[in-house]
Amino acid sequence: MQIANDKAVSFHYTLTNSVGQILDSSVDSDALVYLHGYDNIIPGLESALDGKSIGDKFNVTIAPEDAYGEHHDDMIQVVDQEMFQGIEPLEIGMQFHADVSHGPGIVTIVAIDGDKITIDGNHPLAGETLNFAVEITDIREATDEELAHGHIHGAGCEH
Ligand code: ZN
Repeated sequence: MQIANDKAVSFHYTLTNSVGQILDSSVDSDALVYLHGYDNIIPGLESALDGKSIGDKFNVTIAPEDAYGEHHDDMIQVVDQEMFQGIEPLEIGMQFHADVSHGPGIVTIVAIDGDKITIDGNHPLAGETLNFAVEITDIREATDEELAHGHIHGAGCEH
């Protein structure tokens, strides 16, 4: 069986950035499972996986536009601490769901200067060229319910 739309695909990956730092890896935990053709993973990785078979190993380098997008300076803004009423202490690295310019997203506190809080609405990997080392471990037909929902149902994910 080859990876194509409507297949449930399991794979292990190690993600490194352009200077070779490991950012994330599934190798010491469960393989990632996703539904192919439903934008469940970044576009550059999904297209690299297309047509692959169980046991295939490959490396792929993905530019920001096919990963988490370019880094936009205008998504960094300074807001007043009052925006975070009831949350303290505020710390650099805290993340919040917020309505940002392009819709709901996650903002990260990147600087704190007195009551002026700098928040960044970019994805933490925006602007990064990403390298994935991938090994395909399983491919199966998705269930009708998974296709209707547009995502995989696994352990603890029945809805
Ligand atoms: Zn579902």
